[in-house]
Amino acid sequence: MTTDPRRSLPSVDAILVALPGLPAGGRERALATEAAREVLAEARDGARAGAQPSLQELASRTRLVIERRLAPSLVRVINASGVILQTNLGRAPLGRAALEAIAEAAAYSNLEFDLGPGTRGSRHDHVRDMIRRATGAEDGLTVNNNAAALFMVLHVFAQGREVIVSRGQAVEIGGGFRIPDVLRQSGARLVEVGTTNRTYASDYEAAVTPDTAAILRVHTSNFQVVGFTAEPTVDELASVAAQKGVLLIDDLGSGCLVETRAYGLAHEPTVQESLSAGSDLALFSGDKLLGGPQSGIIAGRSDLVAELRRHPLARALRLDKLTIAALNATLMQYVLGRQDSGIPVWEMLRREPASLRRRARRWARAAGERGTIVRSRTMVGGGSLPGQGVETWCAAITHADGADGLARHLRERYAPVIGRIEDGAVLLDPRTVDPTDDRIVEEAVTRVLSESGG
Ligand SMILES: *Cc1c(COP(=O)(O)O)cnc(C)c1O
Repeated sequence: MTTDPRRSLPSVDAILVALPGLPAGGRERALATEAAREVLAEARDGARAGAQPSLQELASRTRLVIERRLAPSLVRVINASGVILQTNLGRAPLGRAALEAIAEAAAYSNLEFDLGPGTRGSRHDHVRDMIRRATGAEDGLTVNNNAAALFMVLHVFAQGREVIVSRGQAVEIGGGFRIPDVLRQSGARLVEVGTTNRTYASDYEAAVTPDTAAILRVHTSNFQVVGFTAEPTVDELASVAAQKGVLLIDDLGSGCLVETRAYGLAHEPTVQESLSAGSDLALFSGDKLLGGPQSGIIAGRSDLVAELRRHPLARALRLDKLTIAALNATLMQYVLGRQDSGIPVWEMLRREPASLRRRARRWARAAGERGTIVRSRTMVGGGSLPGQGVETWCAAITHADGADGLARHLRERYAPVIGRIEDGAVLLDPRTVDPTDDRIVEEAVTRVLSESGG
């Protein structure tokens, strides 16, 4: 008679006894019991294949399951990927002023309280003035993100009516966000004009009917049509819109407030340009090139913004106090002309190649024979400035487990380090890493190569 190996596995109780410091009852014990059951179930499957884990082994596996379950799901990572606005890593990192403002506003605040007369105030007032000063707009309103801004503007001003969009701009922005779908959801009717590569002001002009509410211009953020292309300027569209008595709505996407050429990049249309060229409303994200928290900003004509502010959707899509605080502090950096030191996105773009090379070399040295430095490019990302980047130096590291294996080892650390894979190596770009985190990267590289037999 053969003995079933599954019979020799310890009981749930035996595992719990082997976990020192576990309370006799309560939630914590229930959690441990559930974890021990799972570990045992797995061990039973393994036992059929001949594995015989010890009680200690099972107890430590249970401990690991408990720890994982109690750990926060959202954790800080080191972005060494060389993409500044990495959508998967939370887009723009916030600067110190924004972080301090969040801490300040997290307690009680004057969110909807006018401290002068001691009466009810509006949360919208906190950002309104700052948007005006940073963009030169007559007025501004904030919502949850730019997708919400676009949806709201179309819903309020174009529901049941026509909105004219160039075929070259009826795009998908990413994450399933498609301009034609947003239009439909908002209740507006899409009227496409022109062709994918060429659309003229006269195409828009010819498409206006008594049912037209607006011309919508969409910044084709994440791709470029090159070669035989034509697109009217905001000026030209503004004069068509004014002449025909329809609105010109400009979805700028990234919300750039400064001249990107000063950072070695191509020109990115700014909010100020759009408004002074005559768009009625300019819409943009708070967490792309603006460098602030996730939010959507609507800037433009005061009569239109006032109508939006009164609409029930302004309540449904409103920002919370922490975001208002962070957005205000971010906009303040622009108002004071301090973006190069106060907003990480611009700070990163300003970093000097010489210091990037030194930092990359230190990281590469941590990998010994496996590390070297290479010239590369940091990309802006986040659907801003497609294909645009600035020169940088990266540490290029190889591993016996291959580049995929190394990237995984670096991700699985307590402070995950995210690189990118190129030519069989993991590249780590210091431009997107705060210099105060350099030690974390160095240590991760050293450890991963010594522990996993790099
Ligand atoms: C990114 C983008 C959006 C969506 O903005 P979110 O803030 O991510 O909602 C909309 N339009 C354009 C042109 C964009 O680039």
